Amino acid sequence: MINRWIVFAACMLVGGGLGFWARTVNGLSFGLGIGLAVAAMVWLVIDSFFINRLLRWLRAEQSNDTPAVMAGSAPSLPGVWGEVADRTRRLLKNRDQQYQESQARLDEFLAAMQASPSGVVLLDAQGRIEWCNQMASQHFGFDAQRDVMQHIANLVRDPAFKAYMATGNFAHDVVIPGSASTPARPVKLSVHVHSYGKDRKLLLSRDITAVELAEAMRRDFVANVSHEIRTPLTVLSGFIETLQTLPLKEPERARYLALMSQQSQRMQTLVSDLLTLSRLEGSPSPSANEWTTLGALLAQCEQEAKALSAVIAPQGHKLEFESGPVSEIAGVQTELYSAMSNLVTNAVRYTPEGGLVRVSWKLLEDGRGEFKVKDTGPGIAPEHLPRLTERFYRIDRSRSRETGGTGLGLAIVKHVAQRHGAELHIESEPGQGSCFSIVFPAARVRRIQLAQAA
Ligand code: ADP
Repeated sequence: MINRWIVFAACMLVGGGLGFWARTVNGLSFGLGIGLAVAAMVWLVIDSFFINRLLRWLRAEQSNDTPAVMAGSAPSLPGVWGEVADRTRRLLKNRDQQYQESQARLDEFLAAMQASPSGVVLLDAQGRIEWCNQMASQHFGFDAQRDVMQHIANLVRDPAFKAYMATGNFAHDVVIPGSASTPARPVKLSVHVHSYGKDRKLLLSRDITAVELAEAMRRDFVANVSHEIRTPLTVLSGFIETLQTLPLKEPERARYLALMSQQSQRMQTLVSDLLTLSRLEGSPSPSANEWTTLGALLAQCEQEAKALSAVIAPQGHKLEFESGPVSEIAGVQTELYSAMSNLVTNAVRYTPEGGLVRVSWKLLEDGRGEFKVKDTGPGIAPEHLPRLTERFYRIDRSRSRETGGTGLGLAIVKHVAQRHGAELHIESEPGQGSCFSIVFPAARVRRIQLAQAA
């Protein structure tokens, strides 16, 4: 500032000096006064020019939406205005840096919110949508651009949600159907609101369809197991009571004991199948280096089929086993046997006596291996096919029970197939018999030369 006064004083000195000189040399009266006035005018004009440049720059800066554009192009001015321009430019530069840093942080934060597996909606104090991520758009059917500043109650019209928002008690979540929910494919959302700031709300949504389904399946499973165990237990306790209270003759007693043994056998099979299923679910995938000879598996299945056929069908079945090329499968021998024997015994159990059950193994052209069980049984209506591998799903309950079925056989087959990277195919038509096949991937199948096999 002192410089400014010095420059002003210098101007006045020059102006005054020139005026004094004009008065003494040219006899100009008031020369000193005129010189001082002209000097002051010149100083003012030059100063106003600098101020004007500075102001123009600042105005342009202010009218610009994106800061930083002008910050680098401050006018170069002398003296105090130069310093003002320079300091302003530095302030603006700092502001730009801060703006860019906070913009980058905001972008990162929004990207993190976008990546969230939950739907995120930010609501203002009036319940209007300020921002929502892609997942929330999917859950509620919002348009992330169009629906900004729309009242959420106008867009999510579920009565349970409206009541939840109206109570203002957000201690718990509320479960509502998602926008893509249909009666055939219900979608369930868990929506939880959290208050923050000044009356603002953070709404989180989670697709819980799979969780709910798993929970429903767990409940069904427990109910089914209880039912399956209770039935033979009731029969057993009835017989025990009879044996304890009634003086029975020996043949009657023997008959009752045989029935009791049948029921306990049924429970044992059920428990064993349940254990197999839980082992399959809990253990790691089978190694691809442990090779099992197919011939041995088929021979075991054949023996079992013959024994079962002899027990349940006095006239027996026609059983055909084609072992195909000598091969090995990479996988757990007990699991593979369990899956194959389930398919073979099912064919025997559901095919009336005299019927044909054909079991075959072959290598497909692309190197995959196919284990196939074809029967001439009653066949299966198309509506049952997708549900056959569900636990305890049976079409013919009484036939299943009569022949010692637990309703878990195909669930076990499906698990074993999945664990070995194989596919289970079921083809059947009522009255046309059924065909169940497990197709193993080429990587788990190998043909062995006879000399090697021997
Ligand atoms: P189950 O122990 O009752 O046989 P599974 O899971 O092995 O249970 O089979 C499920 C249902 O699929 C059976 O109850 C039966 O109704 C049907 N099923 C399975 N295999 C055959 C088949 N070869 N022919 C006709 N129906 C079958």
